[in-house]
Amino acid sequence: MSEELNKIIAKDPDQKEFHQAVREVLESVQPVLDRNIEYRKAKIIERLAEPERVVMFRVPWMDDTGTVQINRGYRIGMNSAIGPYKGGLRFHPSVNLSILKFLAFEQVFKNALTTLPIGGGKGGSDFDPKGKSDNEVMRFCQSFMSELYRHIGPNTDVPAGDIGVGGREIGYLFGQYKRLTNEFSSVLTGKGLDWGGSLIRPEATGYGAVYFAAEMLATRNGSMEGKTCLVSGSGNVAQYTVEKILDLGGKVVTLSDSSGFIYDETGIDREKLAWVMELKEVRRGRIKEYAEKYPEAVYTETDAALDYNPLWNIKADCAFPSATQNEINAKDGRNLIENGVFLISEGANMPSTPEAVDLFVERKILYAPGKAANAGGVAVSGLEMSQNAVRRAWTREKVDRRLHAIMQSIHKSCVDACDEYGEKGNYVAGANIAGFTKVVNAMLDQGLV
Ligand code: GLU
Repeated sequence: MSEELNKIIAKDPDQKEFHQAVREVLESVQPVLDRNIEYRKAKIIERLAEPERVVMFRVPWMDDTGTVQINRGYRIGMNSAIGPYKGGLRFHPSVNLSILKFLAFEQVFKNALTTLPIGGGKGGSDFDPKGKSDNEVMRFCQSFMSELYRHIGPNTDVPAGDIGVGGREIGYLFGQYKRLTNEFSSVLTGKGLDWGGSLIRPEATGYGAVYFAAEMLATRNGSMEGKTCLVSGSGNVAQYTVEKILDLGGKVVTLSDSSGFIYDETGIDREKLAWVMELKEVRRGRIKEYAEKYPEAVYTETDAALDYNPLWNIKADCAFPSATQNEINAKDGRNLIENGVFLISEGANMPSTPEAVDLFVERKILYAPGKAANAGGVAVSGLEMSQNAVRRAWTREKVDRRLHAIMQSIHKSCVDACDEYGEKGNYVAGANIAGFTKVVNAMLDQGLV
């Protein structure tokens, strides 16, 4: 292990997700470090791994029974070398500093790949929106923003959604920001269409992951047409991944949530997808109900005692992990390959463990890491900022065209970077090297920062 990584681990020994993300980037960029000795002298790795700033705060709120609840809020400004901090807020009981630092670290390179001038950040809370009423979520969001507002701004830090933070939460957060600052500003992205949001923002992460998959397939003269796909998750990313796969002639047979997954051998068609969107976004129900509504589907409950996820053990061509980090372990990776999967495009952030990633790279699977494949979401957030800055709204076609072009350009940057450093077809190395080089050059241009 490198001296740099040892130092980073020694500082915060318990932050295993963060170390996992740093280690992967560090391994990929070794050839760049070897070619540019001045990077080492400038302590560039240690600088990148140390957030520019971290705020942690108390979030007190009152539940519907009148009982006081206390959660912890966070915002990490990881790197602002190429623009204001940009990245989502995650509300989930698993949220802690390690998870947010890994997400913020990934975000820095992902945002650099988008070609847009946005730095990297992340935030959130251990608050669990599951099972909470709208009023409870609103009170929580208002309390969260009552502290966060002083640390963010349209030219400083622009949060958005992530797991547990969708249109409803962005609305409540924005309303409170506006009251506190006396300004109608573009401080959050993922806003409602009537008040500054961008068309295609909800679709962007899922669409982008499929556009990226199509680019990878094209390198082998293939397309999405006729491909059977496994999708995990059932939130915003998963839903629009399914929609775009259907647009491009593919078939999707799975969806999941933390309680279990459904396998619909006949395929999730547009009507079933519309039903899932209603289930999730309006009724806030569980995916289990899919198998009650469509008896051709089989529901399998999550079994924590298993050392693999049966969702990844189904015959298919492509996989789109769109749920959460480390949802594919080495055994899942082997199962995917044995079941014929030859393409993986990550809609979630870091859904594959390092062992699974090594396996995909070694077996020359078309494997797109999250920081490249799911960059469409933050890219359209960047386009939302541009539209807000000029007080104009672009058409659906225009935003979709820009998104598609950005995903193509990310694909090209990855391919070019891996060609340059002799790692042909290795999108992990490609994404890390391309993102890293851009951020590091910007940091060095700006002096000792
Ligand atoms: N949470 C998303 C991500 O992981 C989007 C962030 C944003 O739009 O700022 O990239």
